[in-house]
Formats: sequence, C-alpha cells, structure tokens
Amino acid sequence: MYNYKKALNLFEKLDCIVLKDEPMSNHTSFKIGGPADLFIEINTEAALLETIKILNEFSILFFLLGNGSNLLVRDVGFKGAVLKLSKNFKNIRLTERKKIICGAGISLSKLCLFAENNALSGAEFLWGIPGTVGGAVFMNAGAYGREIKDIIVSSVHITKQGEKVELNKNQMDLSYRHSIYSKTKDIITSVEFELVESNQLHIREIMDNLIKQRKSKQPLDYPSAGSVFKRPSGNFVGTLIEECGLKGKTIGDAKVSEKHGGFIVNLGNATCQNVLDLIELIKSTVFEKTGILLEPEIKVL
Ligand SMILES: Cc1cc2nc3c(=O)[nH]c(=O)nc-3n(C[C@H](O)[C@H](O)[C@H](O)COP(=O)(O)OP(=O)(O)OC[C@H]3O[C@@H](n4cnc5c(N)ncnc54)[C@H](O)[C@@H]3O)c2cc1C
Repeated sequence: MYNYKKALNLFEKLDCIVLKDEPMSNHTSFKIGGPADLFIEINTEAALLETIKILNEFSILFFLLGNGSNLLVRDVGFKGAVLKLSKNFKNIRLTERKKIICGAGISLSKLCLFAENNALSGAEFLWGIPGTVGGAVFMNAGAYGREIKDIIVSSVHITKQGEKVELNKNQMDLSYRHSIYSKTKDIITSVEFELVESNQLHIREIMDNLIKQRKSKQPLDYPSAGSVFKRPSGNFVGTLIEECGLKGKTIGDAKVSEKHGGFIVNLGNATCQNVLDLIELIKSTVFEKTGILLEPEIKVL
C-alpha cells in the first residue's frame, strides 16, 4: 500500500488536474472500465517530471493514457495512477523546413487539420482514427496501406526514471502495430513529422473519401476500440470471423459487429469480462475452423 494521501497532496501542488477513483469508462472509446485510484491530467513537461518523481518515490504503478481508443480496462479498475497528457502536450507548430512538431497528447484529427491548413500531404490516412499522436506512435497506427512510421522523423520521450531522450525513426523499431515503446513503456512527449507540399483541395478530397469509406464499413454508432485483432498475413480478420459464423455473436452486451466482423461493439452495458470472453470465443472458434491464431491488437489494462 502506498501513502495515498501524502502523494495526493504533492500532486495537487503541480500543474495537474488530479481525480480520485475516476471511472475509466469515461476515458475509453469502449465506454468500459472500472476506477483508477488516481487520474492525473498533466499540463507541462515540468509537471510530468515531478509527477514521475513522486510516483517513483511512493512506488505507485502508473499507466500512460492517450485517448483510450485502443484500450480495454478491466472492471476492477486500476490500482495506481493513470496519466494523461494535456495542455502544453497538445501544441503543434511548423518548423522553418516545413516539418510538423507536435505534442504527443494532440489528437490525430488536429494533426490532420493542421497539415491540411498548411497544404501538407501524407497524414490523410490518419483522418478518422480516434487516437492521439502518442497512442498512434506507440501502436504504429495505420490504415489504407499506410502507417504512421511513413511520416515520422523523430520522437522525444521521458523514461520512467525521468530522463529526456530523442529517438530518430530508425531507433523506434516501428513495424506492424508495434514500436519500441510497447517494450519500454517510456512516455512519448512530442513527435516530428515530415509531409510533402500539396494542394489543399486535393488533401481535403482524400480525407473526405477516406472518412466516407470508414462510415460505410465501420460500426461508428456504437462504442468500440476499432479492430480487435491484428491482421494475420494473407487474411482479413473480418472475413475470417464472418466465415466462421461469428458475426452478431453476443456475450452480455458485447457483440461482434454485424457491419464489420473485426469490431466488437458495446451495446450499452458490456463489461470488460464480456469483451474478454467474446475475444476468447472468437480466437478458439477461428483456430478450430481455420488453424489461424488471431492476436489481439487492443491493449488490456
Ligand atoms: C472507431 C475506431 C477506428 C479505429 N481505426 C483505426 C485504424 O484505422 N488504424 C489503427 O491503427 N487504429 C485504429 N483504431 C485504434 C486506435 O484509435 C489507435 O490504435 C490509436 O492509435 C490509439 O491511440 P490512443 O491515443 O487512443 O491510445 P490509447 O488507446 O490511449 O493507448 C494505446 C497504447 O498506447 C500507449 N500510449 C498512449 N499515449 C502514449 C504516449 N504519449 N506515450 C507512450 N505510450 C502511449 C498506451 O499506454 C497504450 O498502451 C481505431 C479505433 C476506433 C475506436
């Protein structure tokens, strides 16, 4: 047990917003998850460094949350501190060489709009992915044949010991839905991107087309965390799940989407356990019928 009260007093002196017993269902796109002992929204790098120091001092476990759009939080919640990057971590600017540098807490949609406003092309595929830049780099998010690694120049992170480190793209071990951060769990604070000069109308046209495709294929009217599984090589998850007769399968309020078999949706009151049970059912059925072992893409806290 950690000295909760003492730590809390220290956090409240920093440039942070601190909430106690905060339901994580308020912070995940699945709308699922029990309470986090502490939920700390951090506004500045100085406050982040102090926060890490205090967490280490009191041996408090912590987890860095992006926009919670690839995340399933257990019903019992999280015994520790969930950190969220806010304010200064949402800044974005253009360098003299027309590269974009932004805080890791900014949304991908803001990054896309900034690129569009500056007539820079290459980030359009991220339009419609409901994550933050930090979460997208951690996951090496991608869509429509592109990945965020295609446009990254470098990232800056803070280690669990409070050191600030810059990595260039080649040091980030970026591959399909993977980055070095999946191993180190360091906190990405900012990212630099390189795009190409283009025409604003053309960029808008690409973004509009991609969002149309998303709306027609994905169940965006229900809470979810996007594709539950990674794409197995040579196959599409949605097709495999459909061919195994699992579309529409329901456990509690968790349901395999009728619109896209790769999505599990929350019909209203799904628990984390409902989703985990459905994931296991999908995995075992698909393995039995096809010999393919599906690997979850979503993270479980
Ligand atoms: C409707 C819908 C559609 C989606 N479509 C796509 C898609 O087309 N392509 C795709 O790739 N994904 C898609 N996703 C999944 C999700 O949006 C992405 O994986 C996104 O990149 C996750 O970002 P996040 O900020 O929400 O991260 P979170 O879900 O909050 O966190 C994911 C992981 O990243 C880590 N993390 C977050 N921020 C940081 C940081 N600053 N430093 C270190 N670690 C961090 C977290 O600790 C966690 O382990 C979709 C999700 C939904 C709900």
